[in-house]
Amino acid sequence: MKMETLQELYLEQLRDIYDAENQLLKALPKMAKTATNDELKAAFETHLEQTEEHVARLDRIFEELGEKPKGHKCEAMKGLIEEGKQMMEEDAAEDVMDAGLICAAQKVEHYEIATYGCLRTYAEMLGFDEQADLLQETLDEEKDTDDNLTELAVSCINVEAEEGENEDEEEEEEASDKEKESANRQDR
Ligand code: FE
Ligand code: FE
Repeated sequence: MKMETLQELYLEQLRDIYDAENQLLKALPKMAKTATNDELKAAFETHLEQTEEHVARLDRIFEELGEKPKGHKCEAMKGLIEEGKQMMEEDAAEDVMDAGLICAAQKVEHYEIATYGCLRTYAEMLGFDEQADLLQETLDEEKDTDDNLTELAVSCINVEAEEGENEDEEEEEEASDKEKESANRQDR
């Protein structure tokens, strides 16, 4: 069927992200379980709760529109989750696995940020102000999650992964790690 209006595109993209969020609801517990770093585990668990809220907000929007949420498979999210699964099947040191999980999760967040950004703008253009506000709330949470993951990666996880398995040298390196950390921060 030919898509003629922005509202049809809006609906199609809403269904895309609805399916994507539901795929994530199934994937996030596995990522939390695989993560070793406590803060990273907690970040995935918090985002799982937020993701439930994202689905609930979308349900409200579909209800307001009088439309069904189902009917679109998000192939992009399927692929991103598949890549995350492949990462989790790797034989990797704990810190390296954590870094890989962050990378997979950030790819997911960026996909969501792109979609919610479009959706929020379409809702504004179509005059659905309340829907635009709901979409903005979710968009803000996706962005916060992305920032939080960057913080975790920069402040500890990637640095630990970089050190590799030389546990003996760990203490000596602690001081220079601090320097590295602040250097990383200055780069951003
Ligand atoms: Fe989400
Ligand atoms: Fe998300």
